[in-house]
Amino acid sequence: MIPSGIDLSGMLKPIRDDILHIDIPIQHELKNISLYLFKGEYPALIDAGPYHPLLHDLLTAALRYAGIGELAFIYLTHSHMDHCGLAARLSAAFGARVAAHRYERPRIEGAGERMQEEYGCYSSMSRTMGFPVDVAQLVFDLASAWKKLSEPCRLDVRLGGGETVKAGGRELEVIHTPGHTAGHVCYYLREEGLLFSGDHLMRSITPNPELYCPPWRGHVTGLPQFLESLRLLAGYDISAAYPGHGRAIRKVQRRIELNLAHHQSRLDKTREAVEKGCRTVWEVALRLFPQVRGKPPDVDHFLALKEALGHLLILEEQGAVKRADEGELWMYVPR
Ligand SMILES: [Zn+2]
Ligand SMILES: [Zn+2]
Repeated sequence: MIPSGIDLSGMLKPIRDDILHIDIPIQHELKNISLYLFKGEYPALIDAGPYHPLLHDLLTAALRYAGIGELAFIYLTHSHMDHCGLAARLSAAFGARVAAHRYERPRIEGAGERMQEEYGCYSSMSRTMGFPVDVAQLVFDLASAWKKLSEPCRLDVRLGGGETVKAGGRELEVIHTPGHTAGHVCYYLREEGLLFSGDHLMRSITPNPELYCPPWRGHVTGLPQFLESLRLLAGYDISAAYPGHGRAIRKVQRRIELNLAHHQSRLDKTREAVEKGCRTVWEVALRLFPQVRGKPPDVDHFLALKEALGHLLILEEQGAVKRADEGELWMYVPR
C-alpha cells in the first residue's frame, strides 16, 4: 500500500509525448533515481530501481497512473541494485521480459548471494592494497545491508551491444559502455539524439570504476574501459543525455570532455602522490581523498580505494610507476 496523498503525477515528467521520466527522490547524495518509461506498442521501462516494498507499490501505482497495464520489456543499464533490484517484481507484475548485457547476468540472477561472494573477494584483496583490516571489515559489513535492496531476477534477453531493441513505438540502439560495470550499456534513440546513460554519464559526478574480483579477462579495474567508453560516446550525435541519477545533461560533449579532463587531473595527482612517497593503494587513496581520513569507516573508503587502484594501474601501464611488492602488500614506486 502506498500512503494516501502522494501525487503520482509529480513523479512522471514527460520528455516526449511517449517518453516519461519517472523521478524517485532518495535520501542519498545521488538525490534521486531515474527510470524512463516508453509508451506505445511495446511499453518498456529503462531500469527498475532498488528493491523495497514501498517503492514497489509506488512504482506500480505510478505505472498504472501512466496507463500501463503490461510492459513488454524492462531494459537494465547495469547490475547495481539501485537499477535492477525491483526488476523481478515489476517483471512479474507487468509481464515484462528483462533485458541487460550478458556480462551482467551473474549479478542480476545471483543478487544478494553474488554480492556476498564479491564482498568476500574484496575483503581478501584489501590486504594487498594496505586497506586496514578493521576498516575493511566494517565497510563490507555495512555494504552487506545492500543485499536487501536486490532480489534475484531471471534475465530473459541477453544483450551484447550493437543491437537495436524495441521500446514503446521507438527503436533504441544498445551501446556497450563498460567500466562502471563490465556490462554497462547506454540506450540511444538515434532519430532524436537522446541517450539514456545509466551511471556511465551523469551531470555532476563521475561514477566509480569497477573492481573486478576475481580479475575479469586480465583486468582488475574498469577505469581504462570507462575512459574508452567515454571516448566512444564522443563519436555519437547526442542532443541530451538522461542519466540514472540527477538531472538531464544538455551539453553532452562538454560533459564528456570535463569527465576526461577530471580523470587526467586525478591521474596526475596519483603520480605526484607516489613521487611524494605514498606506497600502498590505501596511502594513495588517502592522499587523493583526504576527506575520508578520520571519518568513521563507510562505503566511501572503499570507493576511494577502487579509484586510487584504477589510476595506479593506468600509471603502471604507462610506465610512470612500478610495483615493488613487500610480501603480499602491493607497493608502488616511481619508475
Ligand atoms: Zn551503478
Ligand atoms: Zn546508480
